[in-house]
Amino acid sequence: MRDILPPESARWRQFVAAFAETVTAAGYGQIIPPLLEDIGVFHRVGEATDIVTKEMYDFVDKGDRHVALRPEQTASVCRAFVQHRPATPWKVWYSGPNFRYERPQRGRYRQFDQVGIEVLGANDPYLDVEVIALGWNFFQRLGLQQVHLHLNSLGEPQDRQNFVTALQTYFTANIDQLSDASKVTLAKNALRVLDSKRPEDFDIIAKAPKISDFYSEAARTHFETVLAGLRTLNIPFVVNEKLVRGLDYYRHTTFEFVGGTLDSAQNAIGGGGRYDGLVEDLGGPATAGIGFALGLDRTLLACDDEGVFTSALANVDVFVVDTTGGNEALVITHQLRDAGFSCDRSFENRSMKSQMKAADKSGALVAIIIGSDEVEANALVLRPLRGEEQQSTIPRSDLIPSITKALS
Ligand code: AMP
Repeated sequence: MRDILPPESARWRQFVAAFAETVTAAGYGQIIPPLLEDIGVFHRVGEATDIVTKEMYDFVDKGDRHVALRPEQTASVCRAFVQHRPATPWKVWYSGPNFRYERPQRGRYRQFDQVGIEVLGANDPYLDVEVIALGWNFFQRLGLQQVHLHLNSLGEPQDRQNFVTALQTYFTANIDQLSDASKVTLAKNALRVLDSKRPEDFDIIAKAPKISDFYSEAARTHFETVLAGLRTLNIPFVVNEKLVRGLDYYRHTTFEFVGGTLDSAQNAIGGGGRYDGLVEDLGGPATAGIGFALGLDRTLLACDDEGVFTSALANVDVFVVDTTGGNEALVITHQLRDAGFSCDRSFENRSMKSQMKAADKSGALVAIIIGSDEVEANALVLRPLRGEEQQSTIPRSDLIPSITKALS
């Protein structure tokens, strides 16, 4: 877990603001779920995942409830849907921290932030395209060039089941060629063997049955409509048949955004897909869902690598230098802030030189200087801090119009 300090924290805020703008323009409203849920919410949606079985921060609270810090937010969105029964399609976005007890490394933290969207209550391939395009457009908006969209379809539930059965048979017949870790995975979930990043598994995985051979007509049509829609929007993609989601409730479209500059173990900057059954598992009616989550921490690493969406300096417009003790600065800073300018000042009655240094560091474009001569003359000195312009003495009553002019 890390502290995010200024000015980096300003970049975080801008990141979320840019995401909010992207998705609210498409009709998504913000949901702010709690950081903590009854542990059952996460158990029901992720029983077979490491995230839920090994990585949760869970504890018993003072009221004897077994709760957990959320490891992701889809489960909370589905729980909220069941609880509040909003009209469908329900289009929401979220942002905020999640917690997973993982092995920390560059791009993998125990507290990390995500932004994401979910749509509940509509099963339409054009919605899949909308959702994917929103993720893609957001990365474009940040200025990222090296993002790759990987895409797959898991078909209808029955297609997926047939595929899993075929995989099970295939891997079991070739079990001595699998890595030890994949043997363990196979016993739990044959699909997830396809996720293996171990070189000794590559050969046997390459020859495994392919999901596309199991698609029903409906699944094929759904997927082809999604691909055609992405082509219409000129969004480049690669179909990656190894992109499977281990959980039973994923169906049809799954996708991942991969950062081309990141190490391969941590190069997913976002991912999502279509799912059914989550809402039912939490006690609601049968409801189709689709969504994605983008990792903020990791996406910013990709931005650093590409030199885009750089940290903006936290500048103020004006810095007030007061050599009379500080009371003049008190009045002037408030006058400026009331007029809508951002401004800062020094404290502790520092020397003129030290205050000018602080003015320079503040990033302000203009300094307003006041000493005893100016107090006597009812005047102020306005000194531009950038560029060639000379300082000038102005009547005190001209402060606001003079600053407006100097900054324009
Ligand atoms: P997931 O919820 O596992 O599908 O993850 C969605 C996105 O969140 C990933 O593509 C990553 O960008 C990000 N992410 C997941 N886990 C972490 C973590 N421990 N640290 C930083 N980012 C993460």
